[in-house]
Amino acid sequence: MLLSEPPPTPLDFEFDIFRIPVRVSGLFWILPIYFGLQDQHLIYAIVWALVMFIAILVHELGHAMVMRRYGISPRIELIMMGGFATENHRDVWRSSGGLGSLSGLPKILVSAAGPAAGFCLAAIVIGLVVLMGGWIEFQFAYGFFPSWSVELEKGVRFGREFPAMADMPTNTDMIYQLISASLFVNIYWGIMNLMPVDPLDGGSIAREIMMKSDPVSGLKNSLWLGVFVGGGIAVLGVFVLKAFFLAIMFAYFAFQSWQKIQRMDGKGFGGGRW
Ligand SMILES: [Zn+2]
Repeated sequence: MLLSEPPPTPLDFEFDIFRIPVRVSGLFWILPIYFGLQDQHLIYAIVWALVMFIAILVHELGHAMVMRRYGISPRIELIMMGGFATENHRDVWRSSGGLGSLSGLPKILVSAAGPAAGFCLAAIVIGLVVLMGGWIEFQFAYGFFPSWSVELEKGVRFGREFPAMADMPTNTDMIYQLISASLFVNIYWGIMNLMPVDPLDGGSIAREIMMKSDPVSGLKNSLWLGVFVGGGIAVLGVFVLKAFFLAIMFAYFAFQSWQKIQRMDGKGFGGGRW
């Protein structure tokens, strides 16, 4: 997911992985703490922080590795709502360097590599669960929405309610939470990122394909696709999935795409060029 570069905070830290520089914003930890508190125990915030850190880093490494395959030197930023991988230039926001010159299949592969890396990580988690004697039972809620339950052994569902705030979770609670959170983040966020809505990875893929087949109006059509799919997911989020955070996010993406169309048509701010 590509969002704007955040301001520096005192909690920022940097490191290198596979010779790729990574910067982690202090704001990155807000969402894991929020998710952890929703699960009714502060200690789960640590589980969520660990899971989200690894999942988002692996997703961005997927993008970065394929960028490098095309001769682009990548860097990674982990920010409040996720992260992004981009060129390792200080003023990449204004330059039209290597990454900007990628189009067609290379661009599609760079975009697809993020969600693909996440699905591989989910497969590894499932493999480890099965090796440990556990089981993951997959279902489709509403006939289309993938869901699963973690089972201690095949047929024995993990049924314990989350302990109250005062109780310390047991090791089994922690392992269960680690598995659930890993699958949630790596599977759902991968699917979400593949939706053909700008600025998600699926939006970039849709834009490349539609511009290839229609160089004149492909870009605008891909934005219209984002308006309708984004709006549709927002409605589904409110009325079916009851996922309001998801709904607000997709409504915002749909609105942004609509704004871009207005600017392309020469209406509103920016007058024709954007
Ligand atoms: Zn991505």
